[in-house]
Amino acid sequence: MISRIEAYFIANYTNKPLLIKAPGRINIIGEHTDYNLGYVLPAAINKGIYFAIKGNRSSTIRVESFITSPEQIIFDIAANSTPFSSFWGNYFKAILEILVEKKYPLKGFDCVFGGDIPIGSGLSSSAALCCGFIFAISQALHIKISKEEIAIIAQKAEHRVGINCGLMDQYALLFGKKSHALFLDCKTLIHEYVPINIKGYSWVLINSNIKHNLAVDTAYNKRRASCEFIVKKMKAIKNNVSSLRDVSLADLKKIINEVSLVDYKIARYVLEENERVLKMKLALKNGNAEGIGEILLDGHWAMSKEFEITTKELDCLVDIGEELPGIIGSRMMGGGFGGCTINLIKKELLNKSIETIVSQYKLRTGIDAEVYHLQVADGIQVINLAQ
Ligand code: ADP
Ligand code: MG
Repeated sequence: MISRIEAYFIANYTNKPLLIKAPGRINIIGEHTDYNLGYVLPAAINKGIYFAIKGNRSSTIRVESFITSPEQIIFDIAANSTPFSSFWGNYFKAILEILVEKKYPLKGFDCVFGGDIPIGSGLSSSAALCCGFIFAISQALHIKISKEEIAIIAQKAEHRVGINCGLMDQYALLFGKKSHALFLDCKTLIHEYVPINIKGYSWVLINSNIKHNLAVDTAYNKRRASCEFIVKKMKAIKNNVSSLRDVSLADLKKIINEVSLVDYKIARYVLEENERVLKMKLALKNGNAEGIGEILLDGHWAMSKEFEITTKELDCLVDIGEELPGIIGSRMMGGGFGGCTINLIKKELLNKSIETIVSQYKLRTGIDAEVYHLQVADGIQVINLAQ
């Protein structure tokens, strides 16, 4: 794909561009914990969004989508951009506005992008889009923007577009490392690499093919609002509480009669999910496949019954997996309401397990699932095609 984007760029913009890959990400465990300043365990993958970019010595910024909803958007640094119909234009507009607000020396450039991350499937195509664009601008225009700052700007852009996300996705794809998960403490933003490959097992994603649009769905933001409400309640009875990270299960019990059961269960889920991330980190380090499987399943059913962000199709995929000896564990992955499950599958039963799960899913839901055998890859980078 990247060489096709480069060829298209050269044919239409006449210059040889700089090429960037911004990967998607998986998450072993830790959903909705990032904005609660908890723990997460994501990893960058070998699917990505690719950018061809080159400065054009003017004040005009032209951005063109390749393949997915082809559209060209023109921004003038000094004036408002022309209206655009594609949703992705909102992310780029937000990013350019933030860069101007932060007084980065923006200049004109041309950019063509396209990718192979399934959109709205929990692999964080939106973070790849945002981080990739900012990184591409910084590289092409020689503007120094640290990865930490790229993450913050990309997060801000998502907030402006409509999703109050945390920083997991951005950190995963900016700091990802081949064959490793990134254990990130979202309170301190200190991270540590944990080996992700388990001998005799494969990590496989199964796409339920139920798509979400997190920026438009309100359910994601509602969960965040519930968490913030609990924090506010806790502040009244405990000092130094600024997020759910500062709250224990024992603390939470003290306010059980002051909050709705829904909000209580949402907060309890977050606290328990943090525990699961810590347990998972240990299980990965020890190569303990059975342990990993159990934690994945615990995580899934908590998201289904307590946090209520799965769909019946995702529950169905996990249900089928639980009946199969080759699938050691699985759970819905990502912000919720659609997307993929992540599965740890015994290599010797890999093909058989996948065949069964796909056919059973079709039988029970009428939907064709897609299977991704992903590799855990390095994070964002400049690509040199001559290599
Ligand atoms: P995801 O889990 O994939 O991040 P989101 O709902 O957060 O799902 O973001 C999906 C949005 O990202 C899409 O609506 C689209 O605007 C944008 N997007 C992602 N990848 C691309 C792409 N390759 N081309 C155009 N838009 C994209
Ligand atoms: Mg997203």
